[in-house]
Amino acid sequence: MNCPDPLPLDHAKILRYKNHKARISEFLSGSMEWKDDSLKPVRDAIRKSLRATQAQSCFYCRRMIATERRNMGEAIEHFLDKSKSYYRKWAFHPLNLVIACQPCNFVKSTKDLGDAAVQTATYLQPHTGTFKWPHPYFDSYSENIKISPGPVYSPIPGAPRHNQASVMIKDLELNSIADIDDRVQFTAREIQKLQRRAFRMARRQRKFGSKERYEAYLTELENRIERGFSDIFMV
Ligand SMILES: [Zn+2]
Repeated sequence: MNCPDPLPLDHAKILRYKNHKARISEFLSGSMEWKDDSLKPVRDAIRKSLRATQAQSCFYCRRMIATERRNMGEAIEHFLDKSKSYYRKWAFHPLNLVIACQPCNFVKSTKDLGDAAVQTATYLQPHTGTFKWPHPYFDSYSENIKISPGPVYSPIPGAPRHNQASVMIKDLELNSIADIDDRVQFTAREIQKLQRRAFRMARRQRKFGSKERYEAYLTELENRIERGFSDIFMV
C-alpha cells in the first residue's frame, strides 16, 4: 500500500484530545520548545497516526521508512517551518503536518515554503498565498509529480502545480545520482534484512504462540518486501 493521495486528515482528531489540547495551548502561548518533554505524548500520537496514514512512507520521496528506524528515522515534518516565528502558530495545525524520511527532512531543513501572503496570513487555507512546493493537503501529489523506475521524479507537463513540482524535485535533490544510488542501496539492504528475518521466522514458528500471530507477521513481512521492490523498480 502506498501513501494515499489525497492525504486524509486522520491525525486531526488527535489534536483535539483534551490532554493534548492543553499542552498545545501551552506551547502556543509560551516559550515552550517543540522538543519539550511534556509534548512527547502529542508528538508520538501525531507520528503514529501519520505513519499509518502515509503507509510508513515519506511524504516527499514516497520511500519506505524502515521499521528499525521508527521515531529516529522519521521526522514530523512541518511543511511551513515551525522555527520561523510567523509559522509557529501552525506547529500543531493538521494541514501543516506530514512525516518525512531523514534525508528529505535534512535537505528541506528550515526552507521557507510560503510567500509574503502566507507569512502574514492568519488562517491556513488553499488560497492563503502561494506555496513554493505542491502543498501536502491542498494539492495532489500524483497529479503533479511522476515517479518513474529508478526512482526518477519529474513534474507532469501541464499539471496544476507543475512549477512547484519542479522546484520541490530540485530543492530536495530527488534526482541526484548519489541519492538514487543511496535509495537503491538502502532498499536493497532493507529487503535483505526482511528476507533473513522471514527465513528465521519460518524456522521458529512455535515461538509465536498462535498461528494467527505467525500468519500476521508473515503477511507484514511479505508486504514490506513487496514495498521494497516497488520502491526501486516500481513493480
Ligand atoms: Zn523522503
